[in-house]
Amino acid sequence: MDDLTNKLQKYAQLIIRSGCNLQPGQELLLSASTDTCEFARIVTAEAYKQGARRVTVRFADEKITRLHYENCALEVFESFPQWQALLNNSMAAEGAAVLMLLSEDPLALVGIDQKKLVAQSRASYEACKPYHDTISEGKLVWCIVGAAAPGWASHVYPDLPVDVAVEKLWQAILATVRVDAEDPVAAWEEHRSSFNERKAWLNAQGFDRLHYKNSLGTDLVVGLNDKGLWQGGGDVTVTGTEFFPNMPTEEIFTTPNRLRADGVVYSSMPLIHYGSPVEDFSITFKDGKVTRCTARVGQDVLEAIFSVDEGAGRLGECALVPWSSPIQQSGVLFYNTLYDENASCHLAVGKGFSDCFEGGQQMSEDELLAAGVNKSATHVDFMIGTADLSIDGIKPDGSVLPLFEQGNWVF
Ligand code: ZN
Repeated sequence: MDDLTNKLQKYAQLIIRSGCNLQPGQELLLSASTDTCEFARIVTAEAYKQGARRVTVRFADEKITRLHYENCALEVFESFPQWQALLNNSMAAEGAAVLMLLSEDPLALVGIDQKKLVAQSRASYEACKPYHDTISEGKLVWCIVGAAAPGWASHVYPDLPVDVAVEKLWQAILATVRVDAEDPVAAWEEHRSSFNERKAWLNAQGFDRLHYKNSLGTDLVVGLNDKGLWQGGGDVTVTGTEFFPNMPTEEIFTTPNRLRADGVVYSSMPLIHYGSPVEDFSITFKDGKVTRCTARVGQDVLEAIFSVDEGAGRLGECALVPWSSPIQQSGVLFYNTLYDENASCHLAVGKGFSDCFEGGQQMSEDELLAAGVNKSATHVDFMIGTADLSIDGIKPDGSVLPLFEQGNWVF
């Protein structure tokens, strides 16, 4: 067995054991692209090895997806196919683990009418509401990981022949998830513990707000919820199953108060949204709401993001990632949020997280909304971290504690 094949096997094992923590007799719903067929087979085999009851694999093809958007009328995207909703909702109800292999070509949908994409994301959220609710209530194990594919790899390494680029992207992906460790599953347990310490410290501070500043021009105050909680590393279901929703993960995050963000923030990395790029942008907030945005590239895409619904123009997440994070240090720009969000401090507009609020998993969406946790059909991350970013934590009594200086944790 060559080195890469061997590592892919270890990666699949890590995904099924640590990512999904798949239990004997449990169902697995696996979503993948036709471009990553081979790896999907390795993952399926591993799931059965771990005792999966049945693995349901849903393949999508990027080029066919593009054909849908080019040819179907806007009103087609205003509804969501019933069978697809039924698949998501019934698998969630049955207690399946949900695994997604991401491999998108960052520009797969460039030039497609943003209205169609917005309509589809709204319709899918509505139709799959029971599925999304099981996530909010902490009842579903879900895991998102990456898999190298030609379109994506050629974008990350444009100067290399495509097969070399794919192999190089695989190596980059594998390095981010510690597959090189002697025992990757144990390495992830250690990763979980190191997060727990910092989370506990942050939760004990009780910050009222964070003040972000850097030389790009960012000067933003983000208000936090008084019952807000910091999360990060691993997750755990209400019944106690530990899993990792994202692999890799280097972020500690919370959901800020939806009515309390003021100032301006500048992007530090390009944002790829549904296959369309947005570059060099700034967003102005007043009382938590986006009041202005400008982008050198992708102005229409940026405006479309905030137009999905009322909550799409308010914050749902603020995440702290040191500039010294291994993904930032690797120097690879992945053009994929799963990776890039772990290379940079970021914010997200749209849906907030129920587990970032004390008792939030037992609250309804409307109760959470009233408490300050944002509600939306969308959730879009954008990167704001730089080598000179400073973040001050401000307590309710006005005292200031520097959290980040020169892009990194002060503590
Ligand atoms: Zn995040």
